[in-house]
Amino acid sequence: MPDIVLTADRTLMSDYHRNEFLGFGTCAPPNVIPDLFYSFMFFPPIKSKDGVPAAAPYGLRKIEAQLLLEGFDVSTVDPDHLHRHLDEAKVLGIHVMDPFGLGPASSTFAAVLKKEPFLAHRFRLLMESSCIRMAKRRGLRIIVGGPGVWQFKLRPSFVEKYGIDCIIEGEAEKVIGRIMRKALKGEPLPKYYEVGIEETPSLEEIPNIVNPSINGLVEIGRGCCRGCRFCSVTMRPLRWCPTEKILAEIDVNIKWGYARSACLHAEDVMLYGSSNTTPNPDKLIKLHEAVLKRCTEGISWSHCSLASVALKPNLFAKISELILQNQPWWGAEVGIETGSPELARKIMPAKAHPFKPEEWPNVVRIGMELMHDYRLIPACTLIVGLPDETEADLIKTIELVEDLKGVRSLIVPLFFVPLGRMKNESWFKETHITELHRELLVKCLMHDFRWIDHLIGLSFSGRWYAKLIQPLYTIFVRLVEYKAAKSGITINLNRPRQTQTNSKIEQLRAAVAQTGRAAGC
Ligand code: SF4
Repeated sequence: MPDIVLTADRTLMSDYHRNEFLGFGTCAPPNVIPDLFYSFMFFPPIKSKDGVPAAAPYGLRKIEAQLLLEGFDVSTVDPDHLHRHLDEAKVLGIHVMDPFGLGPASSTFAAVLKKEPFLAHRFRLLMESSCIRMAKRRGLRIIVGGPGVWQFKLRPSFVEKYGIDCIIEGEAEKVIGRIMRKALKGEPLPKYYEVGIEETPSLEEIPNIVNPSINGLVEIGRGCCRGCRFCSVTMRPLRWCPTEKILAEIDVNIKWGYARSACLHAEDVMLYGSSNTTPNPDKLIKLHEAVLKRCTEGISWSHCSLASVALKPNLFAKISELILQNQPWWGAEVGIETGSPELARKIMPAKAHPFKPEEWPNVVRIGMELMHDYRLIPACTLIVGLPDETEADLIKTIELVEDLKGVRSLIVPLFFVPLGRMKNESWFKETHITELHRELLVKCLMHDFRWIDHLIGLSFSGRWYAKLIQPLYTIFVRLVEYKAAKSGITINLNRPRQTQTNSKIEQLRAAVAQTGRAAGC
């Protein structure tokens, strides 16, 4: 029995039917289909043997690798099997992404549907489980880490109630060993440990994973140079992993027989190996050639920027040519955030770089068209309710969404959450929703309804179980459409909606144009 057990809640310990897009479903609250059915569709349990999962979240695997390297007795365990592994454990390490559903996607869903999102519910269930409570009574110490730990500062009573001993915020490779040693010896632990910039690991100090990561995710770099004010990633220094390190981690997934595919993780995969906002063709092409030799079942990207794609269309075409040799499409998360150049200048002045912030809407249009042409399917985010947002900004975002109608994509509007350098700003609440916000939300919903059947078809193409499982998602979408129609939203997927709100947009559009003329623009 190990001294240290690592785990994560059910919504994180899943490989989402080998489709990262489906992982978004964990952000939703209980809805039109029974919970059990929903969890099977969006976050089924991962395969495990004696409670040891076939794969685990990448961040947890990094901590596991670091602890093994330092000689600790550690094991990663599926949350449904914890009761068989906690008897003698002295420390339980828990990985969190969005433990209270306060992240942008889940808080937006929760505000609209007015229920606790699945990921928050499952995290609470994990903490309430009898095996953890019993182990806690006999002295188990609980340490929490992961991208979602900032939320514990907003829930101090939860930390007390469930006896969480230490929360680590930031990249923990250089500090986790020291904290674990203290925990094992029963010494006092810091309640909230923020990893300082001087403790951020260099590439050489980041160990390779030794066991498979969910959906073959491997990090190709950390940090981002664009500096958007609402983002916390930007606080970290930019580091790109050498190709050999990336391939070594892919080999771990292959060696254990888990995945011959990879999800390349970076804030902008197109910038791999670059020290600024211009892609490095040589490094990017070589990386893809090397990865694709191993990943015969295909690859995906975690994130990619529209500016990099718009800046280097020929390079993007070349990369797509390489990727599409093995697969019919690939996916990535893409931040649009706003269609307003003015708002872009205020909150994300370097998002379009080397283009100017004023060119942002056109950068989005061009980047999205290229993605459509070269079969990269983006799951795009928009931020709704930014502190400086005006009606004119919203109209420009609505216009942009209208322009993207023909682009194969999902567009997800997210309520503003105060993070990064905007962490002291106010949250956006559903009570602040104006007619224009509603219009934007409906526009995004219509966009997604328009494309969703096509995307479901692509997601499961080539899978032996497609005929069995695909109809479930189609039925789910029809149910959501039915509910939306019942709540007064007109479902018209071919023609733009004409509503009173649209006429308000026209009035405001005219006013904006008038202001522009008066200013000589
Ligand atoms: S480009 Fe993305 S990762 Fe980089 S700072 Fe902006 S939001 Fe954050």
